[in-house]
Amino acid sequence: MPELPEVEIARRQLARRVAGRRLDEVIVRDPQAIRGDWSTRPRDALPDGPARLAALVGAEAGEPMRHGKRLGWPFPPGGLLIHLGMSGAWVPGEEPPHARVGLRFGDAVWWFRDPRRFGALIPCPAARLADRLAAGLGPDALLAALPGPALAARFRTRAAIKVALMDQGRLAGLGNIHAAEALFRARIHPAIPANALSDDQWEALSRAIVDQLRDAIDAQQDGELVYLTEGGPNPFAVYGREGEPCPRCGTPIARIALGGRSTFYCPRCQPAP
Ligand SMILES: [Zn+2]
Repeated sequence: MPELPEVEIARRQLARRVAGRRLDEVIVRDPQAIRGDWSTRPRDALPDGPARLAALVGAEAGEPMRHGKRLGWPFPPGGLLIHLGMSGAWVPGEEPPHARVGLRFGDAVWWFRDPRRFGALIPCPAARLADRLAAGLGPDALLAALPGPALAARFRTRAAIKVALMDQGRLAGLGNIHAAEALFRARIHPAIPANALSDDQWEALSRAIVDQLRDAIDAQQDGELVYLTEGGPNPFAVYGREGEPCPRCGTPIARIALGGRSTFYCPRCQPAP
């Protein structure tokens, strides 16, 4: 599932390869991918979605912006808000399976491919993109990285730190994978209540979040996105590695359920509270 690094890779690809080009055609294969607001449900489709998208034809693509896991893509005076959902991606070239919408720029078509259909394209005037992009979200975990004390101030909750880190209203960008990886880097047990972390642990977590996101972006920079759930390789230290040796100490990685999601950690490097 795309989290901040995967969305940032998508943003950079669109910025590098599409920004500055004129949109010549919009191809709608699934009108329900076009929604009126941030919604993961196809039934929230915008009634005049295809016409709203077609109105962008003739505009020049701007450089996409990102906040957390969301994208805002200007096509002045219009634009698109984009959420990749569980499985969304922008892919150039031949029409792939599960293509929802295609945008043609000259002889190149970029397809919004989304097998699971949680992703959304939301028409939005260019002038309103930035506001709607950040609506309801905490600061971006990478662009507005917080030092330890400021991070702690956003997490005054008894919820398990792993669960709290995934709350996009507190901090935008981390999901199930990168929250677990950041906690491993910071040597913090995922079930510790957020408001029980020490000052030192907040400092460690502050650094770990940024390091995790930067390393994940750097590792994917040149490749096409292949999600782990689609059979891609597992590049993570603990995520999806129950029973395998911890890369730091060799102890078998453990898995627990927190907030209904599988969480992976090293019982030795991340001791229980
Ligand atoms: Zn370990």
